[in-house]
Amino acid sequence: MIYERVALIGLGLIAGSMHWAMKRDGLAGHVAGYARSAETRDVAREIGLCDSVHDTIADVVEGADLVVLAVPVGAMSAVAGEMRPFLKPGATVTDVGSVKRAVIDAVSPHIPEGVHFVPSHPLAGTEHSGPRSGFAELFENKWWLLTPEGADAEASDRLKSLCEGMGAKVDAMEADHHDLVLAVTSHAPHLIAYTMVGVADDLKRVTDSEVINYSAAGFRDFTRIAASDPTMWRDVFLTNKDATLEILGRFTEELFALQRAIRTGDGDLLHDYFTRTRAVRRSIVQAGQDTDAPDFGRGRG
Ligand code: NAP
Repeated sequence: MIYERVALIGLGLIAGSMHWAMKRDGLAGHVAGYARSAETRDVAREIGLCDSVHDTIADVVEGADLVVLAVPVGAMSAVAGEMRPFLKPGATVTDVGSVKRAVIDAVSPHIPEGVHFVPSHPLAGTEHSGPRSGFAELFENKWWLLTPEGADAEASDRLKSLCEGMGAKVDAMEADHHDLVLAVTSHAPHLIAYTMVGVADDLKRVTDSEVINYSAAGFRDFTRIAASDPTMWRDVFLTNKDATLEILGRFTEELFALQRAIRTGDGDLLHDYFTRTRAVRRSIVQAGQDTDAPDFGRGRG
C-alpha cells in the first residue's frame, strides 16, 4: 500500500480510473470521493466508486495522505481554496489537470506550510466523461508527467510510485515546457478536430445522413476527438492560451503551404511532406504509444 487514505475531488473519467486502478492493485487503503453534484455522488454510491462518498470537500479531505484535484482546470482554484483548512499536515496534494502552469498558479497559494504540492498530468484519456466512464486500465503503459518544481523529493517519489503502480510510465518536466509539448501533441489537434467537425456540420451540401453514413476513418476519428468534454476543453484553451496560439500560428503557415502546393499542382512537395509525417507516425508506434498499432500501414480510409 502506498497511501493509507486518498481523497478524490471530482469523480469523472480520471478520478474514477484512479479509484479502480488503486483498488485493483491495493495501492490505497481507503479511497474517499467527493463530487459537487448530488447526481454524480448518487451514481458513485450506486456503482461502488470509492470506499466512501462525501457531500463536502471538508469531509473528503479529512485525514487524507493524498488529495487529488480531478476537476476541470478552471475549477482548480476554487476547489483548492475550499480544501485548504482541512488538509492534514504532511499530506500531498496533486492535480491531474491538462495544463500545468495555470494550475500551479491557481493552486499553490492555497497550499499551507507543511503540505506538499506535486502537480501532475496523466497522458491518458477517452472522449467519455463522468462517474461511469472510468476503468482500471486507463493508465496502462501511458505517460504520467510530474511537474514538481522544487516539491519535497520524498512526496514526489511516493506519488511516482503510485502512478507506476497504476501502470503508467512517469517522467518529470518543467511546467511551461509541458504546456508547449501538450499544445503540439494534444491541445491544437483537439481544436483542429473540433473545427473539422464544425466545418462538416456547417456544410449544408453534405447532409447529416451522408456525414454519418459515409464518414471515412479520418473524419470518424475527428468526430471521436470532437466529442470530448466541452467544459474540460474550454478550460484547456483558456488556460494554455499562449502555447496553443503559437502552435496554431505554425499550423496555419503549414496549411497555407500545402494549400498552395495543391493549387499549383506541386505533387513532389505533397509527397515529401506526407513521407515525413508518415515517419513521425512510425516512431510513435515504435515507442508503443498507440495501442491500435496493428493497423499501421494498412491505410484506414
Ligand atoms: P470529467 O469526467 O468531466 O469529471 C469532472 C469532475 O469534475 C466531475 O466530478 C464534475 O462534477 C467535477 N466538476 C466539474 N466542474 C466543477 C466545478 N466547477 N467545481 C467542482 N467540481 C467540478 O473530467 P475528467 O476527464 O476526469 O477530467 C478531470 C481533469 O483531468 C481535468 O482537469 C482534465 O483537464 C484532466 N485530464 C483529462 C483527461 C481526459 O482525456 N479526459 C486526460 C488527462 C487529464 P459533477 O459530476 O458533479 O458535475
